[in-house]
Amino acid sequence: MAEASPLYQTYMRAPLRFERGEGVWLYTEDGDRYLDFAAGVAVNSLGHAHPHLIEALTTQAGKVWHLSNLYDVPGQETLGRRLTEATFADRVFFTNSGAEALECAIKTARRYQFVKGHPERFHIITFEGAFHGRTIATIAAGGQEKYLEGFGPKAPGFDQVPFGDLDAVKAAITEETAAILIEPVQGEGGLRTASNEFLRALRQICDDNGLLLVLDEVQCGVGRTGKLFAHEWAGITPDIMAVAKGIGGGFPLGACLATEEAASGMKAGTHGSTYGGNPLAMAVGNAVLDVVLADGFLEHVRDVALVFRQGLASLKDRYPDIIEEIRGEGLMLGIKATVPNTDLLMAMREEHVLGVPAGDNVIRLLPPLILTVEEAREGLKRIEQAAEHLQGKLKAASSNQGR
Ligand SMILES: *Cc1c(COP(=O)(O)O)cnc(C)c1O
Repeated sequence: MAEASPLYQTYMRAPLRFERGEGVWLYTEDGDRYLDFAAGVAVNSLGHAHPHLIEALTTQAGKVWHLSNLYDVPGQETLGRRLTEATFADRVFFTNSGAEALECAIKTARRYQFVKGHPERFHIITFEGAFHGRTIATIAAGGQEKYLEGFGPKAPGFDQVPFGDLDAVKAAITEETAAILIEPVQGEGGLRTASNEFLRALRQICDDNGLLLVLDEVQCGVGRTGKLFAHEWAGITPDIMAVAKGIGGGFPLGACLATEEAASGMKAGTHGSTYGGNPLAMAVGNAVLDVVLADGFLEHVRDVALVFRQGLASLKDRYPDIIEEIRGEGLMLGIKATVPNTDLLMAMREEHVLGVPAGDNVIRLLPPLILTVEEAREGLKRIEQAAEHLQGKLKAASSNQGR
C-alpha cells in the first residue's frame, strides 16, 4: 500500500480512516467512533460539523468563492475589525496558513526597522524548541536541525537562545537585532509555557532596545488557553502576532496582526497573497468568532479545562510509571510520559481517544473548545484505561525478566 501511494511519504500516518465527525467525535469508515483530542492539531476549535460553521460556509459557497485582493473581499473588513477590536492590533493581513502568517510577521518586523532607517536590523531572536512552520524562513526561525537538514543554507537572521533564559536573550541582542519571536506556549516543542514574568521581561527588553515583540499564537491562540489570546494571561501586548489553526475551525485561514506603528512599513506592493482573505475563509472565520466571542464561551473553556487538568493530575499520581508530568494551559495540555510517548499514544488509540505527539516525550491533548465536562470525563476514563493496560504490560515484562 505504502509503495503504491502517489503521495510524498513525508508523514507517518496512523492506520485510521475517518469519514465524518460530529462535535468531539470522529467516525471511521467501519463506524467506530473516536474521541478527538487531537482536533486536527488544535484546528477544529469548534469540533466537527458545527452547525453554525456549516451554515456560514455553505451560504457563502452559493454566492462567490474567490475574488483576489484586487477588490474588496466580503468579510475581510468585518473579520479584520473584529480581530483588531478584540486585541492590541490596528492592522490585519490574512493568510491561508500559520507559516504564511509567520512569514508576514517576520517581513513586517524587518520592514519596520528598514523604514526607521535601520536596514541592518533584520535579526530575530527565537527560542530552542520553537516551531514556526515549514517554509524556508520558518524552519530557520524554529532552528530545529531535523527540519533544516538537507534544505540548503539556513536562512540568515535568526539567533536562537534557550527557552526562558533572559540573560541569553540580553546577550544575543546586537546592533542587527530587529525583534524577538516566541510562542507563549510551545506546542510542538512539548507544551512548555513561557512564564508571565518572562513574557513581561521580553516586553520590557523590546521597549528598552527598540525591538518588536512578535508572538506566535498559531496554536495557543483563539481561546485555546481560556483567554482569546495566551499573552493576555501575562497582561502584556505584542507588536505583531501570527494567528492560524483555531481561527478557521478547519478551513485554511491565518492572520498576521500588528499595531499601526509596527505595520508602518507595509505599504502597497510590499506583500501579497492570492488566496489570503478568501471569501469562504472569511465567512468561516467570522462564524468561529461568533461562537468564541459569545458571552461565557471562554469561561466555559476555563471551567472544563480545570476539570480535565485535575483529572489528568490525578492520573499522574496514580500511574507514575506511565505519566511523569502534566503540562500546558487551558485546553492545550500535555502528558509528559514516563514510557515512550508513542506507546501511550498507541494505548490511548486502542481506547479510541486521539492525541498528538510532541517533543520532549509529550502527548498533546487539544480537544475542541466545545468539549463538555461529561466528554472530558469520558476522555479521562479512556486515558486511565490506556494507562492501566500499559502498566499491566510493564508489570508482566518485569516479572518475566525476574524469572
Ligand atoms: C502549526 C504551527 C505553525 C505552522 O502552521 P501551518 O498552518 O502548518 O503553516 C506555526 N507556529 C505554530 C506555533 C504552530 O503550532
